[in-house]
Amino acid sequence: MKFIVDRMLGKLAVWLRIFGYDTIYIGDLNVSDEDTFLAENFVDRLLLTRDKELYGRCLKKGRKVFFVDTDSVIDQIRVLRDVGVNVEIKMERCSVCNTLLRKPSEEEARKVMEREGIEEDLTKRYELWYCERCEKLYWLGSHYRNMVKFLEGLEK
Ligand SMILES: [Zn+2]
Repeated sequence: MKFIVDRMLGKLAVWLRIFGYDTIYIGDLNVSDEDTFLAENFVDRLLLTRDKELYGRCLKKGRKVFFVDTDSVIDQIRVLRDVGVNVEIKMERCSVCNTLLRKPSEEEARKVMEREGIEEDLTKRYELWYCERCEKLYWLGSHYRNMVKFLEGLEK
């Protein structure tokens, strides 16, 4: 399952990438009429929208579309889980740009740690993943634990 999401669902787009899903956020594309673009392009992807009018327009065209009926991100995740989206954290895809992650070389990891002023040697303590487009490192540290904690809210 691949997604494209509208302007109002940027946070949800980040989460879908965290769950490993190939997700395009319309705000990352430079298009002038976003609604028309979303109705007519990337039709192989499921469009997630918060916009009733756009939803109706897509239904008429036969475009695959899902109306997200809440502004709460945890509720949005819950709704998607309930229709079969796998909401497990996967270190597969950059949450910022959607690029697939890979293992960094020693040099790449050192470069990022130096640039970000990370004093702890991450390579010794953690398994690392790398986005070559953002030159960003991912590891199962405090940010990861915060994400796990946030998702615990699904159970309530
Ligand atoms: Zn990236």
